[in-house]
Amino acid sequence: MSDNAITVPPEIANAIDTAHRIAVITHVAPDGDAIGSCLGLTHLLRNLGKDAIPVCQDPVPYIVNWLPGVEEFVRKAPADVDLVISIDLSSIDRMGDAYDAGTLGHIPLVNIDHHVTNTYFGHVNWVEPRAVAACEMVYHLALAFGYPITPQIATYILTGLLTDTRGLRTANVSARVLRVVTHLVELGAPIGEITELTFNRRPLAIVKLWALALPNLRVEPEGIIWLVITEAMRQEAGYDEPGDGGLVSFISTAEEAYIGVVFTEKPDGTVNVSMRARPGYDVARVAFALGGGGHPQAAGATIDGPLDTAVQRVIHALREALTEQKAARAAVPQPAHAGK
Ligand code: 5GP
Ligand code: MN
Repeated sequence: MSDNAITVPPEIANAIDTAHRIAVITHVAPDGDAIGSCLGLTHLLRNLGKDAIPVCQDPVPYIVNWLPGVEEFVRKAPADVDLVISIDLSSIDRMGDAYDAGTLGHIPLVNIDHHVTNTYFGHVNWVEPRAVAACEMVYHLALAFGYPITPQIATYILTGLLTDTRGLRTANVSARVLRVVTHLVELGAPIGEITELTFNRRPLAIVKLWALALPNLRVEPEGIIWLVITEAMRQEAGYDEPGDGGLVSFISTAEEAYIGVVFTEKPDGTVNVSMRARPGYDVARVAFALGGGGHPQAAGATIDGPLDTAVQRVIHALREALTEQKAARAAVPQPAHAGK
């Protein structure tokens, strides 16, 4: 992973300079990086005197519900804005109902994202897959344009950076990232408190849901570990948030696994597929082929049910992809530390 400096396109500063009322939209089923980057950017813009509105179709998830200002989110971008900035999302559909193309299509759209699967749907596109989080991009943007980072903004940015790196435990954490973290702490982000509230705290219902789901764990001979979360399990556990509370990351730590997958049945009959891969393997391409997206090590998609059909389809695609990836790796000598 290259550690070169991340540069920011000046067109973004021009778009911000000329705007007055800005909708900052993040993705459906938001995670910590979505919420942190959206609120961080919103507050940077407000401190420049802009009228900025954080927008997300879905509620703020439990892990970051303690952040100040989470109640400011609106579900749909107002029609009277003069700039839309999308943050942490790789395709226009990931804004869901927050973005109505009918009313907003003619308004300039700046796409700020770190997903390798980004489709460049904006009028200005700043796509930086080397950034470990959209929050890291917000940090570089603030620095490049001289926007002041208050302790509250530093807290938003560090929270999203920490969630997308699972607490600085992903393989893309570099000296550059640690310098960003250090600077954010110096700017007033309380790293110990953020870690405590974000990683060392979960609802009892999610622990019960894991207990219901884990007995059905499956392992494919190629090294794919997976399980399903049914709507019935979710009801029995009393867990009403979307997502698996980190279960896919947990099962993917099994040493025998190259890829981990959690299939979650949704009330509307669709199935959410959440995938993780060890460094050196890639689930983003399979996610993209399924109509989703993400990063090589963490990707997902929402596909048609029923659950059994969805599972068969995805496991089949992953077995093929993994066999191919193993063959490609075997053809190239690997350094001893580069994963299995
Ligand atoms: P997770 O498995 O934690 O839900 O998501 C992992 C990564 O995949 C995240 O970066 C997320 O943005 C991306 N991702 C998850 N689901 C979808 C999806 O339905 N569409 C797209 N484009 N990306 C997704
Ligand atoms: Mn992100």
